[in-house]
Amino acid sequence: VSTAARIIKNDDGGFSGAVIVYSDVTGLVEALSAKEELISNVSHEFRSPLMSVLGNVDLVLDAADRLSPDSVHRLEVVQRNAERLLSLVSELLVSASAVLAVHPRRTDLAGLIENSIGSVQAQADASNVSLTTDVPAPLWAHADPLRIGQALDNLVSNAIKYSPDGGKVTVSARRSESWVQLKVQDTGMGISEEETSRVFTRFFRSQAARQAAIPGVGLGLSITKTIVERHGGAISCDSKPGAGTTFTLTLPAEGTPGS
Ligand code: ADP
Repeated sequence: VSTAARIIKNDDGGFSGAVIVYSDVTGLVEALSAKEELISNVSHEFRSPLMSVLGNVDLVLDAADRLSPDSVHRLEVVQRNAERLLSLVSELLVSASAVLAVHPRRTDLAGLIENSIGSVQAQADASNVSLTTDVPAPLWAHADPLRIGQALDNLVSNAIKYSPDGGKVTVSARRSESWVQLKVQDTGMGISEEETSRVFTRFFRSQAARQAAIPGVGLGLSITKTIVERHGGAISCDSKPGAGTTFTLTLPAEGTPGS
């Protein structure tokens, strides 16, 4: 049941009454979970044939010296596209909330940040983007290392991907008794004010990203938001077109009551 309430005031601002509306949303909830299940099943079914395509292409390419250069080139195109499809399918599978279970435990976020930075260093070097961290270590939080690692990977690799040559990406953190706050800040293309509220929507891509032909499918941030919210945390985006973007992620600190 979904509820909405409104207080009715009389002319002098005093309390006059209230209206409470109860709506039965059973159908809506059922439709949503049927959609999640469909995405999950379809993406799962896509994986096996794709793995078979990739396995067979790999085998043929192992004997590349017996093939013409043109055949090798064409097989490599098949391989690249099959890999792209596989990663899209994996992202879709993760984005179907049924499989996005989180198992939070005492986790050092400083270590996770270091891992994420390590895994994108080559991407940053290739586009001449500098990576800086300002993180106290260790930084304990109540987090699932696999999932929060995935969220950080998404944010840091986006920060590089949407930054021009010579850009700067900074990951910083601070903590209070009950919260840990992480910021991933870049000096990239930014997102228009009107679009900022939509970045966490599945399949959303900004006009600037599409115009610049930066590859992507618009799933990473929706997955990231789901992960963070399943930890009882929150994520927000602050951006200025042409100046840069900051994503702020808040998670419960280790030992937070109820976490
Ligand atoms: P993808 O990068 O695959 O398109 P995401 O869900 O990660 O998907 O991001 C959604 C959209 O939000 C991107 O297409 C881009 O338009 C915008 N975006 C995300 N991160 C940034 C960033 N750091 N700077 C500018 N735009 C961004």
